[in-house]
Amino acid sequence: MNRTQSEKLHNEAVTHIVGGVNSPSRSYKAVGGGAPTVMAKAQGAYFYDVDGNKYIDYLAAYGPIITGHAHPHITQALTTAAQNGLLYGTPTEHEIKFAKMLKEAIPSMDKVRFTNSGTEAVMTTIRVARAYTGRIKMLKFAGCYHGHSDLVLVAAGSGPATLGTPDSAGVPKSIAEEVITVPFNDPERFIEAMDKWGDELAGILVEPIVGNFGMVEPNPGFLEVVHTHAKKHGTLVIYDEVITAFRFHYGAASTLLGFEPDLTALGKIIGGGLPIGAYGGKKEVMEQVAPNGPAYQAGTMAGNPASIQTGIACLEVLRAPGVYEELDRLGKLLEDGILAAAKQHQITITVNRIRGALSIYFTDEKVENYEQAEASDGEQFAHFFRLMLEQGINLAPSKYEAWFVTTAHTEQDIEETVKAVNHAFEKMAQ
Ligand code: PMP
Repeated sequence: MNRTQSEKLHNEAVTHIVGGVNSPSRSYKAVGGGAPTVMAKAQGAYFYDVDGNKYIDYLAAYGPIITGHAHPHITQALTTAAQNGLLYGTPTEHEIKFAKMLKEAIPSMDKVRFTNSGTEAVMTTIRVARAYTGRIKMLKFAGCYHGHSDLVLVAAGSGPATLGTPDSAGVPKSIAEEVITVPFNDPERFIEAMDKWGDELAGILVEPIVGNFGMVEPNPGFLEVVHTHAKKHGTLVIYDEVITAFRFHYGAASTLLGFEPDLTALGKIIGGGLPIGAYGGKKEVMEQVAPNGPAYQAGTMAGNPASIQTGIACLEVLRAPGVYEELDRLGKLLEDGILAAAKQHQITITVNRIRGALSIYFTDEKVENYEQAEASDGEQFAHFFRLMLEQGINLAPSKYEAWFVTTAHTEQDIEETVKAVNHAFEKMAQ
């Protein structure tokens, strides 16, 4: 595969843009380095790069593009929005419509606020939880990513329940120390931490279905324990549904799992491809937010007409009957094909899949927490990633990222992908 133009552009990019990328996960550092593929166009399930190569895309822009690229209904909504002016700085009717749609789909949210990113949404839920409880400390689960605000960039450590240390330079130790990290799916360690710090905790941040060390479901009873102990200590439960909302059904994972968090953070899919975030929750908690309450959150671009209208359009597409059943059917075809290929070529893998979202770990262990995901073979993944890329299959360049099937993928795309997986595993087995 010719990648000359990608390489040339990357060489130019690194002299102007730090690392040549505007988000570190786009670099190929985790898969052996080199120029990331520079894409020129995206249509449906396909990417076209600057060298003219075509790819079947499973990155889906790290999750938002669940309807496939350039979906006509969303494109039309954006065109109309642009024609009527991109940014007002005043309320619009569309915001109310969208807030109502989100509330209808996610019953635990009495009130909503729009932001520009998932990072902002999560960051604000933390502030609101602190304002409401008058407490400072937070608890999160190891390996879960909640955006890049100071408080959540805390070591995804796998040691015993411990006070956090910063994961990034520039995050004050004093801030990281307010965060307690425990392993996901480990009720004993969680209870241990709650017994120790529960009364000081403003909130517990949870990805109810983890999407940031591959796709990992909560074990039966785990979230029950989280909610029970949160309630006992007067701690708020915050669901970070930036990846999960509208991913598995028309609504949030909380509804699927049967829980009502105090606050929910949203992003990705709800913008239909434009920058967005949102948060919402119980009325008395949300009343903390300015102008009604003392917790401040704002944004020049927040609730901008373009993001709101593409978001509405995206949810309209997802609301059609059968959408999630089809994502599940194609996801299963893909999973079955990958597992069969692994068996045939004696490659050891674990596949976690929830409907159209799937992850492959090169390990013989079950993956239920970050430690297990971390222990999966990164070099094998890097080799696999390259072999897939060469065959025109675009995956995220990290062993921790999921594959996303979109409504634009066809059975034929899945068959082609499985063929490529077979070929990749055959090479890896040599
Ligand atoms: N929370 C979760 C669960 C995420 O996966 C992400 C992004 N991958 C974020 C928050 C941050 O969202 P954004 O990149 O829109 O700031």
